[in-house]
Amino acid sequence: MKLRILHLYPKEMNLYGDHGNILSIVKRCEWRGIKAEVVVHEPGDPIPDDIDIIFGGGGQDSNQNTIEDDLRAIGPKLKELVESDVPTLVVCGLYQLFGEYFQTGDGNKIEGIGILDLHTVAGKNRLIGNVVVDESEFGEIVGYENHSGLTRLGKNVRPLGTVSKGNGNNGDDELEGARYHNCIGTYLHGPILPKNPRITDFLISKAIERQTGQPAKLARLNDTAETRAHKVASTRP
Ligand code: GLN
Repeated sequence: MKLRILHLYPKEMNLYGDHGNILSIVKRCEWRGIKAEVVVHEPGDPIPDDIDIIFGGGGQDSNQNTIEDDLRAIGPKLKELVESDVPTLVVCGLYQLFGEYFQTGDGNKIEGIGILDLHTVAGKNRLIGNVVVDESEFGEIVGYENHSGLTRLGKNVRPLGTVSKGNGNNGDDELEGARYHNCIGTYLHGPILPKNPRITDFLISKAIERQTGQPAKLARLNDTAETRAHKVASTRP
């Protein structure tokens, strides 16, 4: 068994440890004897068909601008993969651009690829700090946010969870993130996966199920370090 992980724009879209999400997926595969190969996507590269997991991180407004044209070019292919249930995690900057658009604070409209039914408009203040999200199938989720964009969800996505600390999508409807097929969009950096290993295992399980056509039975791992990291993050002010 081998899983191929597509890492979108690691140079341009990588904030607050987002790259650690790739390490988390690779390690939790390797610890179970599953081979994991990372396929890096930079502007101009083609998107291969045999992709098992997609990941994309956050970025400054200027970097979102840099990748806008390439993202639009690969958008239809990414949409096809997401809608064929490829497990996908997009954080902050790419979460916004998997939606319809991001209107930045200086009035620039960066077009998204419309996979997720949501749109984002910059607010006056940045939303910065630690976040705790409840009421999701993953239990409590912890992370760190830093964004100007305020995201509103449409009818075709459901939220990842409800915020009990921090702001999440916009700071007023208490919602955080979005889900569509096996795609998770979230504002949480930190990075999110090492401290929330149930989400990592969700991505790995769905990838195996898609490849084999059978339910995945993942071996249990010793999550002592992950649980401690989670607790520390959840008690931060
Ligand atoms: N530039 C976007 C914003 O400020 C995304 C930031 C991020 O990825 N952390 O909203």
